Amino acid sequence: MKLIFERSRKGLRCATIRPLEVPSHNLEKKYLRKDVQLPEVAEVDMARHYTELSRNAFGVDSGFYPLGSCTMKYNPKINEDVAALPGFTKVHPLQEEETVQGSLHLMADLGADLAELTGMDGMTLQPCAGAHGEFTGLMLIAAYHEGRKDTKRNKILVPDTAHGTNPASAVMAGFEVINIKSNEEKGVDLDDLRAKVGEDTAALMLTNPTTLGLFEKNIEEISKIVHGAGGLLYYDGANLNAIMGVVRPGDMGFDVIHLNLHKTFSTPHGGGGPGSGPVGCKQSLVGFLPNPSVIKNKKDEYEFNYAKSSIGKVSTFYGNFGVMVKAFAYVRTLGADGLKEAAEHAVLNANYMKAKLEDIYPTEKRFCMHEFVIDLQKLKNETGVSAKDVAKAMIDKGIHPPTMYFPHIPGVIDEALMIEPTETESKQTLDEAIKVLRELYELAFKDPAYLQSAPHDMAIGRPDEVAAARKPIVRFEGEY
Ligand SMILES: *Cc1c(COP(=O)(O)O)cnc(C)c1O
Repeated sequence: MKLIFERSRKGLRCATIRPLEVPSHNLEKKYLRKDVQLPEVAEVDMARHYTELSRNAFGVDSGFYPLGSCTMKYNPKINEDVAALPGFTKVHPLQEEETVQGSLHLMADLGADLAELTGMDGMTLQPCAGAHGEFTGLMLIAAYHEGRKDTKRNKILVPDTAHGTNPASAVMAGFEVINIKSNEEKGVDLDDLRAKVGEDTAALMLTNPTTLGLFEKNIEEISKIVHGAGGLLYYDGANLNAIMGVVRPGDMGFDVIHLNLHKTFSTPHGGGGPGSGPVGCKQSLVGFLPNPSVIKNKKDEYEFNYAKSSIGKVSTFYGNFGVMVKAFAYVRTLGADGLKEAAEHAVLNANYMKAKLEDIYPTEKRFCMHEFVIDLQKLKNETGVSAKDVAKAMIDKGIHPPTMYFPHIPGVIDEALMIEPTETESKQTLDEAIKVLRELYELAFKDPAYLQSAPHDMAIGRPDEVAAARKPIVRFEGEY
């Protein structure tokens, strides 16, 4: 499609500027731009241009989006409406506390709700992403050990199935990363953990369910081992969809947790939009949470509180407030029972799809949580069709590809597709997706070349993914 600059024709306009109501002021010539270089189009051209652009983008509102580990579920529009209320959008972050009581009240209540949901004693809403939450949580852990003059603890244990942000955040926070192997059941290998935990362990970072969508059954034993050695337990709660309202990480023995509001709590993940990664912790770490926190004072008014022992600020102002409003609307419209039901349906939907596919697409035998991984190695050996080819062919069928090649454990899982249907999809949608995946499997044997050159119906087929990420062309360089 054409760029808006390529549609530009000199003299076309889509805005009429009203006559001035105030005296005009002539700026000095040196401040005036000679050439503004804005596209010149009529209103109709502009409307068509942006409508076409939006049609070329795929979103949860246009189709099924089973992107594992990312929870691309449908988010009720009422939450957007609430976040768009002028009382929320028109406040300024520098306003006096007494003029923004409603916003502070919301932040205090959301923090308390999330702490209750996760079994934590305190919660900060400041971090602006999952990885940012991990970094903040690890800073709390560093401050905790330092506060006890236990300064040898410079290592973070991370299982090999962990999300890539875990080891990256640990390094950013100044720790050394020690990898823990997986056992036969793709959980933490307890012997390897016992061998590596010790006086220098600051914490173990764990995702439960793991990135394979499997629940770590040994969590209580793991908690005993790490706590016994004086270390803390960090819970990567980016995917709370599987467990919210059912079990609480705080009750499993975790000390620190981050959540992704932009996955589970009504803001879509991906696309570079605003995120929010609240961090919760147990009482022994609450004093280190970022400043300011929101508290209710003796006069029943909300105010910012600055704790002396805090690790300081981790974001400008108070974080991404609009995302918090959507999360609050989501939590309060569903209520405790509704959140639990959402988690149960997320798990049910994943197990339904898994059961309908596992005769042809190999996967773990036991029940999964909110997502599951299929292994296409055998299909590739027999037909030459890879996980990527199947994913690309799904695009032509109106389905967003699942997460590809993650988790990647060389020699164990090399051709992974990770499917997360989410709780908001109906049985009809799941059945259609199952049908598509079964048809593509058969097609892989009959006409592998067709799959290897998919997608066939899209504006672009197979871009150079590395170049697209590393050398994106984001500026128009032609003539207009
Ligand atoms: C998405 C995700 C993260 C990181 O979240 P971002 O907001 O992308 O930084 C961390 N851990 C897991 C398990 C995730 O799925």
